[in-house]
Amino acid sequence: MIPYGQQNISEDDIQAVVDVLRSDFLTQGPCVPSFEDALATYCRAAFGVAVNSATSALHLACLALDVGVGDIVWTTPITFVASANCGRYCGADVSFVDIDPSTYNMSVAKLEEKLENAFATDTLPKVVIPVHLSGQSCEMDKIHALSQRYGFKIIEDASHAIGGRYKSQPIGSCVYSDITVFSFHPVKIITTAEGGVAVTNNADIADRLRLLRSHGITRDHDKMTGLSHGPWYYQQLELGYNYRMTELQAALGMSQMSRLDDFVTKRHEIAHRYYILLENFPIIMPFQHADSFSAFHLFIIRLNLDYIEKTHLQVFEELREQGIGINIHYIPVHLQPFYCALGFTEGDYPESEKYYSEALSIPLYPGLTVEMQSKVVAVLKTVLCV
Ligand SMILES: *Cc1c(COP(=O)(O)O)cnc(C)c1O
Repeated sequence: MIPYGQQNISEDDIQAVVDVLRSDFLTQGPCVPSFEDALATYCRAAFGVAVNSATSALHLACLALDVGVGDIVWTTPITFVASANCGRYCGADVSFVDIDPSTYNMSVAKLEEKLENAFATDTLPKVVIPVHLSGQSCEMDKIHALSQRYGFKIIEDASHAIGGRYKSQPIGSCVYSDITVFSFHPVKIITTAEGGVAVTNNADIADRLRLLRSHGITRDHDKMTGLSHGPWYYQQLELGYNYRMTELQAALGMSQMSRLDDFVTKRHEIAHRYYILLENFPIIMPFQHADSFSAFHLFIIRLNLDYIEKTHLQVFEELREQGIGINIHYIPVHLQPFYCALGFTEGDYPESEKYYSEALSIPLYPGLTVEMQSKVVAVLKTVLCV
């Protein structure tokens, strides 16, 4: 089976992890801060806070922006459930903004319309979480302008997008947001096995993220109440978590980062080849916005079912049967039973639901060879009867 995505692990990556195993620190050593600095520098953001997953980063990001009971968080239905769950973890209500039919990212027009209604009914969101689907940035300048008008904060879920750019700034520069979150799950652009990071330009937010990832405990005397009992002393100031990244993960991440730009270049080459080879297929190719340089985490095609005498499910199954590990990103979050139980239902976000009935992610990762890619194209050709 040719998978839709796969990690790329080099001998240097392995050596970096082995070196940590032989060192004094398996956790809370020097690798995590080095990795955080490297990420922040790469993204041109001031601070990076590494954690054990992007899900944890999203949770802490919401907490750092004071999301709680009675607040409202908005995201897109076409994302992984974690982008919505982070609001629920904090006790907030979650709602969704339908997607743009060309980029499949959160629609700015729909966002504006929903904000107008929310303003009228006093139900404005505290935080909006745009998701850069497949590595292509949302229209952040416009979303940022709306945040200024309506007073909400922005967390970019850039789980797909490290190495991408928006208006020639690296994604993660936080020029148009308060916090940006990346994932290092093995299918993403670079990996730490499990892992994530939140980057920000705001020193207070960075402090808060650091405190919350480690039980809400500080050893910084300036932040304590009252007097220190002695050199062993620490204080818990808030209810935090253990969301720390290990040294093993950070060392792997650091080693992976040295190949980040090469990975993205390779992904572009493969994507470019798909654009050429699939040109006359009854599918819609991924649209690329002029402001965006995508990280190309995914290559999502949409079946033009008017010209294919098969269902979406049939095409999916036939491709899998013939060894092509396609996948679907994503089942609209509002259709998950957990969210249906909160009142969401089919028909709430028609553009997302239509997208879901046609979308397929085809294999794209740096290790996909020309031969493998040709096989993907050949099988697609047979299955779609081109
Ligand atoms: C992968 C992913 C996450 C969660 O990342 P983890 O590191 O696995 O917790 C969140 N949002 C999106 C859009 C993702 O693709």
